[in-house]
Amino acid sequence: MKSKKCKVCNSEYRAEIEELYFVKGWGSRRISKYIYETYGEDISHAAIANHFKHHVSEELLNKIEEETTKACEEIYHKIATSIGDDFKVLSEIIEISMQDMKNPKASARMKEVAGKNIFNAMDMKHKILKLTEEKASASDDEFEI
Ligand SMILES: [Zn+2]
Repeated sequence: MKSKKCKVCNSEYRAEIEELYFVKGWGSRRISKYIYETYGEDISHAAIANHFKHHVSEELLNKIEEETTKACEEIYHKIATSIGDDFKVLSEIIEISMQDMKNPKASARMKEVAGKNIFNAMDMKHKILKLTEEKASASDDEFEI
């Protein structure tokens, strides 16, 4: 998918133009201005827009798809890991507080604090769960992957 007439296809800055567009998310007007100001090469924004409409190679699109998928997986993994860590901490708080509650030597004040800790940790767990469920169902509605 290369056009002999297209200024972008034939530009030595094609790779950079495509990177600005896909990686940095620049619009065709901004790219046109940048290429002119940086290299003195005059490519109209219409030519750039046309290039992205018709000449982007299948190979590049596959690469973009692959990288986007990879980035999403990494983000998901990070979130899942951090939620896992949060849960571990909350579970530990609950466990320690339960021991205090059962400890016959614990003072009334200690039991009161332990009770509050358990309540707060459970509440936090519940909130995190609810949040992740909402996120999951929201993304189900928006995207079909
Ligand atoms: Zn082109």
